[in-house]
Amino acid sequence: MNNNVKIKNITRTVQKENITSMQEVNTDICVVGAGISGVSAALEAARLGRDVTLIDSLPALGGQAVNSIIGIFCGLFSEGSDPYQFTHGIADDILRDLGRAGALYFRPEKHNVVMYDEVALSRWIENAVYENGIKLVLGASLSGVTVEDRRIRSIEIVTRYGKLRVNASSFVDASGDAALAWEAGLPCREPAEGKVYGTHMFVLEGVNADYAPASMEEVGERLKQRAEEYGLVRKDGFAFAFPGRNTALVNMTHVETPLEPLAAAQKALEGKIQADKVFQYLKKEYPSAFENARIRSYGLPGIRQTRWIVGRHQLTEEEVLTGTQFSDAIARTSWPIELHNRKNGFVWEPFSNDHVHYVPFSSLTPPDVDNLVAAGRCIDGDLAALSSVRVMGPCIAMGAAAAHALDLAGTGSIHEININELQERLKENLFRKDTSIWKK
Ligand SMILES: Cc1cc2nc3c(=O)[nH]c(=O)nc-3n(C[C@H](O)[C@H](O)[C@H](O)COP(=O)(O)OP(=O)(O)OC[C@H]3O[C@@H](n4cnc5c(N)ncnc54)[C@H](O)[C@@H]3O)c2cc1C
Repeated sequence: MNNNVKIKNITRTVQKENITSMQEVNTDICVVGAGISGVSAALEAARLGRDVTLIDSLPALGGQAVNSIIGIFCGLFSEGSDPYQFTHGIADDILRDLGRAGALYFRPEKHNVVMYDEVALSRWIENAVYENGIKLVLGASLSGVTVEDRRIRSIEIVTRYGKLRVNASSFVDASGDAALAWEAGLPCREPAEGKVYGTHMFVLEGVNADYAPASMEEVGERLKQRAEEYGLVRKDGFAFAFPGRNTALVNMTHVETPLEPLAAAQKALEGKIQADKVFQYLKKEYPSAFENARIRSYGLPGIRQTRWIVGRHQLTEEEVLTGTQFSDAIARTSWPIELHNRKNGFVWEPFSNDHVHYVPFSSLTPPDVDNLVAAGRCIDGDLAALSSVRVMGPCIAMGAAAAHALDLAGTGSIHEININELQERLKENLFRKDTSIWKK
C-alpha cells in the first residue's frame, strides 16, 4: 500500500426522485433484435447515412448466430460443385474478414455451408456496430409500443440501468419472435398444431483431429439406432469438426421453446441436460474421437420458429418448391425445407443444384402499419417455407432489404415505395451469379 496516497473515502446518499422519469432517444431507424438480420439491417441503414438505434434483450450482440452458437452459415451459396453466392452486403465483409483471420471453414460437401468461429463473428459484429456509430442499447426488453395513425411512433424499453423511450421514423422487427409486432397489437402467426423444436447447441474441445468431418455425419446415422439406450430425445443430428482446431459443433438435441417466461427458463435447463446426455453418447460410442473431449461451451437455447408476423403475403411451401419469381423479390436461397416439427427428428427436403427460391418484400411488411418492416425468422411464411428462409444467408438479405426499404420510404409509407428502385439497390442479392469466394 502506498501511504502517500490519500483515499477520498467519502460517500453520499442518493435516492430515486421521479419514479416516472424516462430517458428519451430520438433516431431515424430503430432496429429491435441484434441477431444476424437485425445487425444486417442496422449496418446497411447506418451506411446509408441514417441515424440508427439497435436494441436487444440480451446483454450481447449477435443474437443466435453468436449466443446460441449456430456456427454455420447456411443458405448463403447455391448448390453444386461450382457454387455462387446468393447474398452479398455484410456477408461479403464477414467472409472476407473472418476468412483472413482463419475463422471460417468451407465444408466441401453438398449443401454448401461455411462454418465460422462464433467468437470471431461476435467481435466482428461489435467492431462494425461501433465503427458505424450505431446507438446501442443492450439488456433491453420491449415493454410498450405507441401506434398512432398507422405508424409506430415510439417504443418503451426496460434495462437494468433504467427505462428508455425510443422515438423513431421507422422500425425493423428483427426480434425473431415478432416481439415488436406483437407488442404493437398487430396480428401474428404461430403453429396451429404441434410445435417447432429448438436445439441446445454445444461446442466440444479436445476432439481427436483425425476424426474427419465427413465421417462425423455417421454420428447421426448411428444415433438412430442407439438413441433410446442413452435416453436421447432426438434420433438424428450432427457433430461437425472444425479442422485445425480440435473442436466440434454438436446439434443433436430437440427442446421446446415456449414464449412464456417460466416455461422458457425451465426448457433451457432441460436442453442442457439433453446436451450432457448427447456428450456421454459421443464419448462412449466414438472413443477414438471424443475420449479426451470436454464441453467448451453451451449455447443459449436455439429457437427456430415461435411467432411471426402476418404480412401482406404469406410465403408458401408451394412457392418455395416451385421457385416462384415474385415481382417484389428481395432475397433468394436454395436451402432445403428443414422443419423441426417432430421431437425425435426433422423434415429435410433438399433441392436440385439449379433450384433457387425467393422471398417477396410483401412477406416482410405487416399491412396495418406504414413504418414497420420485419426481417429474419419472424417474416410471414407457412411452417415449411419459413423453415427454409430463416437460415442466415437469407436473413442477411432480408435485413438489407428492410434497411433500404425504410430509407426509400423516409417519413412516407413502406407500402408505397418504388419496388424497382428497391430491387435496383438489392440487385447483387437477386441477380449476381459470379463464382464466389468458395473457390479462392
Ligand atoms: C439450433 C439451431 C440451429 C440452426 N442452424 C443453422 C445453421 O446451421 N445455419 C444457418 O444459417 N441457420 C441456422 N439456424 C437458423 C438461424 O440461426 C436463425 O434462424 C437466424 O440466426 C435468425 O436470425 P434473426 O436475426 O432473425 O433472429 P435471432 O438471431 O433470434 O435474433 C433475434 C434477437 O432479438 C432479440 N429479442 C427477442 N425478443 C426481444 C424483445 N422483446 N426485446 C428486445 N430484443 C428481443 C433476441 O435477444 C435476439 O438477439 C439454426 C437455428 C437454430 C435454432
